[in-house]
Amino acid sequence: MGGTLYLVGTPIGNLQDLSPRAAAVLGAADFIAAEDTRVTLRLLNHLGLKKPLVSYHEHALYRGDAILARVQAGESCAVCSDAGMPCISDPGAPLVRQALALGIPVVPVPGPCAAVAALAASGQDTARFVFEGFLPVPKKERRARLAALAGEERTAILYEAPHRLRATLADLAEALGPGRGVTLCRELTKLHEETVKTTLGAALALYEGNEPRGEYVLVLAGAAPPDAGAQMTLPDAVAAARALLAGGTRPAEAARRAAAGTPFAKKDVYRALVEEKTKGGDA
Ligand code: SAM
Repeated sequence: MGGTLYLVGTPIGNLQDLSPRAAAVLGAADFIAAEDTRVTLRLLNHLGLKKPLVSYHEHALYRGDAILARVQAGESCAVCSDAGMPCISDPGAPLVRQALALGIPVVPVPGPCAAVAALAASGQDTARFVFEGFLPVPKKERRARLAALAGEERTAILYEAPHRLRATLADLAEALGPGRGVTLCRELTKLHEETVKTTLGAALALYEGNEPRGEYVLVLAGAAPPDAGAQMTLPDAVAAARALLAGGTRPAEAARRAAAGTPFAKKDVYRALVEEKTKGGDA
């Protein structure tokens, strides 16, 4: 009789989020397959458990073979990523596919997932959403994803590392327009947890002189249906440019970003912005 492969969700910060069932499955498993054995060892130590640990990795399928051979021989295996649900922007999916192909039972033990926690707390529309994970880094693929997101009407969930956050917000503001709503969910379940519901332009301004720290999920509002885009007024676009100016962006760049994704040309937004400043006498 073969064993079972359990996919165990683990905390994304607060250790108290480990479910009693997850602890029981970890305690009962014959061995644990971890994304990083050092990280999972800390969790096991916290639980007072001693278990054989092996590592698995997306690009090292031979490890998958060895793990699944043990399960086929009757052992039960708990799969843990460093945090959250295995297979969600984490390795594990090839192991699952291989297990299913071999007829091995795969049982999820649901636990914390940064994407779902962020979505729930985001204040954005939760009825229909897409998960984007990390945007690709290579320029061509990145542009293609950004273009797809510009027209995506469902709420979109993205992961991002702090050192790439500003570049990603700038790319998103340019492709989707600075007025697009976004919720920044930072350090969920941790000491410095923070949720800020704002727009891409204002988020960019927020971080102009402020180094992003910690782990982030971005929850983007969906695009307005096609005809609603045409209803965006020039003052709306100028207001978005003004928010960028306030964050230190130069006028021409602010106009270019604010015009992106609107029916207005950069020069129209720029002219209105300059006229507004002249009238206000604060140029
Ligand atoms: N498998 C994990 C899950 O289920 O959420 C995701 C792993 S992915 C490699 C790591 C990314 O998840 C981080 O870069 C960040 O975007 C997001 N993340 C993880 N923990 C988080 C937290 N406590 N607060 C905010 N974002 C978090």
